[in-house]
Amino acid sequence: MAATTEHVSPEQFQFQAEVNQVLGLVINSLYSNKEIFLRELISNASDAIDKLKYRALTQHDLVTEGAPLEIRILPDAEAGTLTLEDFGVGMTRDELIENLGTIAHSGTRRFLEAAREQAGAGAGEGGDALGLIGQFGVGFYSAYLVADRVEVVSRAAGAEGGQAYRWSSDAKGGFTVTPAEREHQGTSIVLHLKDDAKDFLDAWKLKDLVRRYSDYVSHPIKLQEERWERPEGAAEDAEAEKQLVLEQANRGKALWQRPKGELKDEDYQEFYKHLGHDWEAPLAWTHFKVEGVQLFTGVLFLPRKAPFDLYDPNKRRGVRLYVKRVFIMDDCEELVPQWLRFLRGLIDSDDLPLNVSRELLQDSTVLRSIRKQIVKKALDLLDELAKDRPDDYRLFWEQFGPVLKEGLHFAPESRDRLAKLVRFRSSKVDGLTSLAEYVERMPEGQDAIYYIVGGSEKAVAASPHLEALRSKGYEVLYMTDPIDEWAVEGLSTFDDKRLVSALKADLPLEGQDEAKDEGEDQRKDELAGLLAKFEQVLGEQVAKVQLSKRLTSSPTCLVVPEGGLPAHLERMLRMNQQDVPATKRILELNPKHPLVESLRKLHADDADAPQLTEWIEVLYDQSLLAEGSPIDDPARFAQRVTKLLEEAAALAVPKAEA
Ligand code: ADP
Ligand code: MG
Repeated sequence: MAATTEHVSPEQFQFQAEVNQVLGLVINSLYSNKEIFLRELISNASDAIDKLKYRALTQHDLVTEGAPLEIRILPDAEAGTLTLEDFGVGMTRDELIENLGTIAHSGTRRFLEAAREQAGAGAGEGGDALGLIGQFGVGFYSAYLVADRVEVVSRAAGAEGGQAYRWSSDAKGGFTVTPAEREHQGTSIVLHLKDDAKDFLDAWKLKDLVRRYSDYVSHPIKLQEERWERPEGAAEDAEAEKQLVLEQANRGKALWQRPKGELKDEDYQEFYKHLGHDWEAPLAWTHFKVEGVQLFTGVLFLPRKAPFDLYDPNKRRGVRLYVKRVFIMDDCEELVPQWLRFLRGLIDSDDLPLNVSRELLQDSTVLRSIRKQIVKKALDLLDELAKDRPDDYRLFWEQFGPVLKEGLHFAPESRDRLAKLVRFRSSKVDGLTSLAEYVERMPEGQDAIYYIVGGSEKAVAASPHLEALRSKGYEVLYMTDPIDEWAVEGLSTFDDKRLVSALKADLPLEGQDEAKDEGEDQRKDELAGLLAKFEQVLGEQVAKVQLSKRLTSSPTCLVVPEGGLPAHLERMLRMNQQDVPATKRILELNPKHPLVESLRKLHADDADAPQLTEWIEVLYDQSLLAEGSPIDDPARFAQRVTKLLEEAAALAVPKAEA
């Protein structure tokens, strides 16, 4: 683990630097949403009970005798504290230090930089910082929205001698950890409420918040209330006395077990937030029950924003697995393919054994068939969103499109459905287009779908490779995601039309008539000498030099031979320390360009003219620049261009002035 906590003395610790920043961010951006602290702490307590129940399946002595597997909310008006108690797995001393003193996510630093940039850009404290925190999920620290000091007393299930520890911090400096006592396994979070948060001691308010935010938590959430009642068993005329009673405040039935008709949008939205790691409502969801060979229930959500660690190969969160209402794990890789890793939610299976292990899951036929259904339900959900709420689908696409496109490569069985869901920018429309829309716009005579890959929309739009396609009125899809090169390979055809790269060497342009081809042959002969000269000058820098059919206004361009990688991809892979062989590209000359014609004449006149070599080098460098590639020797290029300009300028000056 990369995160470390500086050890000051045996009991005093400093927060990892990132924790301080996250704390600041939470407190500054969520002050008007203070009440969510309750949802976050209940969510953690519920997770802790889930984990305990799972471990107790095989380790029966983990649960101390008489421990109620519930969550308790204990307001204490006199002390000014609100305590959240659970009887879950608890934390060891080391876990207290690790879980509450560091942030485990590896992308934290990047996230914090983004947050600072946003704040610097004047996005204000509320709005966008909120969205950023949403990508992060910083549950426990929300306690400091309402408390100026927090104590966590925890006893890990199965701890030797039943030893408990107390973690305590005012969030300003560091924290302390000292031995403590606790009757049962589990955790109590004691919030010393700030003056402006004392209303969270009010039983009505707390009950309301539990119903609103945490109703679907499947463990009982009990609120301690004061009642004036006759003590139990006392005589009928005995005086009423102040009693502390525990009342269940939530329904306690897992949301996914309730009939759909009974659930409102808000229920799903709150449930999604409870599952964790987002503070914003989801974009869409689907709730289903499958009753075929397998019996299982599921709820799947599409988040509104991509989490900051969407591309972190170590990140492990997505769809939770439950078996017969018992939580099993929240990072079950076998459940959801990588290209759907943006999905959130859960699956509850009735067919898997409760003691299912990771190894067992790896080749479980039950799981495989569940996975198939998840893919189907997710694609159904996306289809529906694309059809009924295209604006929201666009939002989804902007956030998760590149991930979904991975499926084109890795999931050939879903290719046809995915091909309908992909969107691209293009030379003909503003915004995004589907392949079906592209096909509808195809003019008579065009029978392939053309695309160009490159580093940015600007670069590809200006690329000389598109000149001939443009002049024919053919639309070109702009593929500027790094994944596109592979994705489109998986696609290969749509609606029986081939997808053809404008960068590839053998770009077929149908509709080029025979007469023209004959003229071309003659031109080829004329230019053969010049082509050979180009090859001689450029040597190892190119695979070969050939005449182009795709250029109309540029003199040259570089194209990718069959099986080669486009330049921008090669660069990207190298930047990621990947060892890729250099693809030698093909230089194409525009036979109709006046510059090419002049060079031909020059070459015919004197094949060894020194300018010829200079100009060929300049043209090659210029082709590199046009596709956004760096050139070998920029200083030399600049010198050559200066020299050319000098000569041209001298010619341009009227004789009289010279
Ligand atoms: P998250 O829930 O997203 O992991 P939190 O900040 O809410 O992040 O909690 C951090 C970690 O602290 C949890 O992952 C868990 O390991 C631990 N933790 C928090 N609350 C409890 C609790 N009540 N019982 C046991 N562990 C807890
Ligand atoms: Mg949490």
